Amino acid sequence: MIREDEFLMLLNSAPVIDGVVTETLTDVGLRRLREDLRRVILEEAEPSVLAPYLTGFSKRPSIDAEGVHWTLTGPADRMPLAEIVLEWSRVTTEMPGRLRPCGNPECNKFLIDHSKPNTARWCSMASCGNRMKARRFQARHSGASL
Ligand SMILES: [Zn+2]
Repeated sequence: MIREDEFLMLLNSAPVIDGVVTETLTDVGLRRLREDLRRVILEEAEPSVLAPYLTGFSKRPSIDAEGVHWTLTGPADRMPLAEIVLEWSRVTTEMPGRLRPCGNPECNKFLIDHSKPNTARWCSMASCGNRMKARRFQARHSGASL
């Protein structure tokens, strides 16, 4: 199964570094899925663009002492892509409004906000959070010293 942090890692696998989008993936299928997911999250595309990634997959139930388990079955070569789409679906249905783009306009990363007030704005406080704070501080104080 794909975990939430792996899903987010995929979404953020082409970061802007020094103003240039920097590709870190070699797998063409993963790249295409990442771009489709990004467009869906940014509401530039309908979620139905993700449907082809699920073609040929189904979930099969099994049961034991702990209860019912559902196992994804389908083409093995496309299994990772299908699992990523399922993880996107889980994140957006279980945590509506929590998956969103970073508040830094020069950053193209996404974040999943787990904070109680749902007010997180940056993909990372260490990079974008501090950079944006410094920029606002500079904007406020430049001019005053002239
Ligand atoms: Zn960011």
